[in-house]
Amino acid sequence: MTEVLSVPSGSGSHGGALLEVEDLHVEFRTRAGVAKAVNGVTYRVDAGETLAVLGESGSGKSVTAQTIMGILDVPPGKVTGGQIRFHGADLLKMPDDQRRKIRGEGISMVFQDALSALNPVFPVGWQIAEMFRTHRGTSRSEAKKKAVELMDRVRIPAARERANDYPHQFSGGMRQRIMIAMAIALDPEILIADEPTTALDVTVQAQIMGLLAELQRDSNMGLILITHDLGVVADVADKIAVMYGGRIVEEAPVHDLYRRPAHPYSKGLLESIPRVDLKGHELYAIKGMPPNLLDMPSGCAFHPRCPYRRDNCVTDAPALYPIDGARGSACHYWREVLDGESG
Ligand code: SF4
Repeated sequence: MTEVLSVPSGSGSHGGALLEVEDLHVEFRTRAGVAKAVNGVTYRVDAGETLAVLGESGSGKSVTAQTIMGILDVPPGKVTGGQIRFHGADLLKMPDDQRRKIRGEGISMVFQDALSALNPVFPVGWQIAEMFRTHRGTSRSEAKKKAVELMDRVRIPAARERANDYPHQFSGGMRQRIMIAMAIALDPEILIADEPTTALDVTVQAQIMGLLAELQRDSNMGLILITHDLGVVADVADKIAVMYGGRIVEEAPVHDLYRRPAHPYSKGLLESIPRVDLKGHELYAIKGMPPNLLDMPSGCAFHPRCPYRRDNCVTDAPALYPIDGARGSACHYWREVLDGESG
């Protein structure tokens, strides 16, 4: 039987975004202390829109995604504040059975490591078919037919024959396509792709990004693309949220951020992208290490690494200052960064 979401359907039916994360706080209680992984994250994604969430590992981007999906390890993880609204309904206040229904049908996720996300002992076609059987009660033969159609849609050659193969019989890129097929099986309204191309070589990366963009266009999904690599999102994202130390430090339409970053960290990330026209030059790297979440720096968390730092940066945490309506920067000196003046 088809499971029905008990939240209003149809994007924007409540007059807001499809998905809104507001002032989300998540921490992990460990023996070494409390790690503040997400510290007031706010973003929204509309139907047909792609948000790239960018940051180094430990920046809070994946923990935010896991919290949206309801797959955070609790404990040690704990949501200590905020809301995650899907069609206006707060997922964090929903009973577990209601959230389970939204997982897959409303919001779905592609993980970085397809080999460990797929079950090694079942053929891939069977695993995709199970999505239909479990969530929709589809008959065995119909589910298998749908699985082959989906494998075709994500361009697995000879899909009918290959449906009987096991995950280890596919290349990394093909396994990622199978993961994507499973993630879109139930026509989710939001797809979260967490580092979907990290383990793949550059040509295959481009193919997978192209496939995600095409699927999104066809179905008008909202897409949240989580990555540490600014280079892979330029052509597919509409807007970018740059995360550092569990906070969004810059948010901007993608082309604005590429043209004129307004935060020293985003500027550093952009300068670290290898460029063919600078062949022979030493590659730029942001100095220092990401912050220790158990012992966050005072004031602006980026201050130990920031070439623009002034005295007040060590004591005063910057808010996300609005710039030109459509963007924001959590830097006291964003004007100087935009103008390229440091020191
Ligand atoms: Fe750098 Fe200060 Fe801006 Fe933080 S607030 S990014 S330390 S200039």
